[in-house]
Amino acid sequence: MKKKKKVIKLSANESALGVSPKVLKLFKSRNYKVFKYPDSSAKDLRKTISLNFKCKFNQIICGSGSDEVIQMICQLFIKQGDEVIVPQYSFLMYRVYSSIAGAKVVFSKENNFKVSTDDIIKKVSKKTKIVFIANPNNPTGTYLTRNEIVDLLDKLPKSIILVLDGAYAEYVTKEDYDHGFSLVDQFENVVITRTFSKAYGLAGIRLGWCYSSEKVASILNKVKGPFNTQRLSQEMAIVALDDKEYLNKVIKNNQEIKIWFEVELNKIKIKTRSSEGNFSFVEMSEKEAKKISVHLANSGIFVRELDSYGLPNCLRITIGTKEEMEATINSLNNLS
Ligand code: PMP
Repeated sequence: MKKKKKVIKLSANESALGVSPKVLKLFKSRNYKVFKYPDSSAKDLRKTISLNFKCKFNQIICGSGSDEVIQMICQLFIKQGDEVIVPQYSFLMYRVYSSIAGAKVVFSKENNFKVSTDDIIKKVSKKTKIVFIANPNNPTGTYLTRNEIVDLLDKLPKSIILVLDGAYAEYVTKEDYDHGFSLVDQFENVVITRTFSKAYGLAGIRLGWCYSSEKVASILNKVKGPFNTQRLSQEMAIVALDDKEYLNKVIKNNQEIKIWFEVELNKIKIKTRSSEGNFSFVEMSEKEAKKISVHLANSGIFVRELDSYGLPNCLRITIGTKEEMEATINSLNNLS
């Protein structure tokens, strides 16, 4: 039988180190009551989230991935003919769920791959219901500082919901970055979304959550399905949240390998841009981007082409293990 070629998947921003061994232990050792419904309000998980992030328990809502949370927000706040503002190069599901809910998607410009808050304000109309910002952004890796977000909130009409998606927040090391929890106390129209899919290494259990004002949380609860997050997922997420040591290891590992990888890319004349997530964002010509992506795929390494984001001249490469990134550099060194 032909030997299966090893595949290195660097296209979906999953965690290089995977899940904490403590979570795996729980997974293996317990006799789960799979015949029982999960806790519909995910009480224990929300308590753990509230302790870990020092935020209010009754304002946290969990979903099957932050994808579901984003979908709930769209379902709740959009009616046919409304508008939603989405930065030009941002996470694709914002436009997908907004369109499904009947909104017209209005794209705001970016400056040098960074969200322009000025352009967002310019695009606001009477029909605008939601503004989505991934902070830091996927796929560009840029971020807005706390001051920039506060400035935007000061100018944004209070009737418009600002979703701050912190899917990659754990990875950010910049001092002027803010996770935004205190903004929820200050501004009733802010919703923060988070996920266990990235730094916690739990993409497969589908768990995300959001934090918003009491008023918004109580209406969001009305569209949430009763058992939308699973028993096992809730328990695994609790252990993952409490394993701070492992989270710190993941963050440190990502930072070190990303720096090493980008230096190596620069040596072979591949231009990288500063990225705060667990991925590198590289810019070149469209022809080169295709060539590199196809070449890597031929050696079993899959990176993310960004045509669907309107960036056919860029690639997004997830930071995998050191071995995976070395294999990527070795393969690129053989590119003629
Ligand atoms: N937001 C951003 C910015 C993302 O990149 C992703 C996944 N790639 C998500 C949300 C959704 O993550 P999940 O549904 O796994 O929580």
